[in-house]
Amino acid sequence: MAKRLYYQDPYLFEFDAEVLACEPEKDGFSVTLDRTAFYPEGGGQPADRGWLNEVPVTFVKEADGEIRHFCPRPIAPGTAVHGRVDEARRLDLMQQHSGEHIASGLICSTFHCDNVGFHISDPFVIIDYNVPIAWEDLLKVEDAANRAVRANTPVLVHYPSEEELQRMEFRTKKDLKDLSGAIRIVEYPGTDVCACCGTHVRVTGEVGLIKFVSCQAHRGGVRIEMLSGERALRYVNAIQAQNHQVSVTLSAKETETAAAVLRLKKEAQGLRERLAVLETRAIEEKAAALAGRGSVLLVEENMSVDSARRLADAVMQTCGGICAVLSDCGEDGIRYCLGQEGGDLRALAKALNEAFAGRGGGKPHFVQGTLHGDVKAVERFIREQAGL
Ligand SMILES: [Zn+2]
Repeated sequence: MAKRLYYQDPYLFEFDAEVLACEPEKDGFSVTLDRTAFYPEGGGQPADRGWLNEVPVTFVKEADGEIRHFCPRPIAPGTAVHGRVDEARRLDLMQQHSGEHIASGLICSTFHCDNVGFHISDPFVIIDYNVPIAWEDLLKVEDAANRAVRANTPVLVHYPSEEELQRMEFRTKKDLKDLSGAIRIVEYPGTDVCACCGTHVRVTGEVGLIKFVSCQAHRGGVRIEMLSGERALRYVNAIQAQNHQVSVTLSAKETETAAAVLRLKKEAQGLRERLAVLETRAIEEKAAALAGRGSVLLVEENMSVDSARRLADAVMQTCGGICAVLSDCGEDGIRYCLGQEGGDLRALAKALNEAFAGRGGGKPHFVQGTLHGDVKAVERFIREQAGL
């Protein structure tokens, strides 16, 4: 079995090794080495990527006790290779994994729960716990977690004997009886003790920052999204940039954007209600003015589907013929509504759809849809077809 250099030194990103075997796989080759610094996928931590000489390593997994490096090209057994782990990616994964241990240690002891799921995904790290946790309570844990980061205490890794394990309190995702071989305990003194196969930072200060992003009810407990280290800082910066844009657009202080958005929303709601009253009045007046006029064609600009439908419906009940309403909505096309009491307008709608790359239909006496083209041409077409 390959020597696992990532356990001896998780900060070793370059190493020399010999290829022991190279086997074809579905989309490339799997290479086994006599020693490796590449971490294979496991324990919620994704696999490393990097290079063996100039050949990219796209995935690493452990199978049958061997660590398999997946490469797009073969490397002959016996070849001496220089391995390079993608350092930035690994450092990020270590920050995420270590941040998760600090957070989970505190969450499990504070809320007396278990961590029942963990995965370092992109963009967020996802962790599940088996009790409900309120966001406000979680923020208190976030404070404590960041205090633990600032304390900058060393992270300890040890392999206790079976007797020691019996006496120890530690978190594990598996039953003790299901764990085989020496059990690797990762300890964040005062914060967390957990059986873990992943790679960790040397001191808590390297985690930099721990930020919870969301907390949603999930299978009787919660699913938390979180970030640590540089990823957390990038996230906070992205949120700040968004808030800055809102602040500039609404001329509100950056700490008062939520109140400004609420005011705007309320104002828009008031305007919508006022507009609905005025529109209803206008429709009623139009229907009265066109009473007995026979077939009519009305062209509007940017009228909503609902308003165009209401206008056509009201006028067709008074005019005594066909009422056609066209609403020119620019890039969104031309909305049309055609209505006639007791009429059958389906053939006209079909002809319109065919002539103006449109779609739509409806009941015999009322059809609606969207067309594309010049509104004047649509108007002429309807007048000719319907004899308006
Ligand atoms: Zn772990």
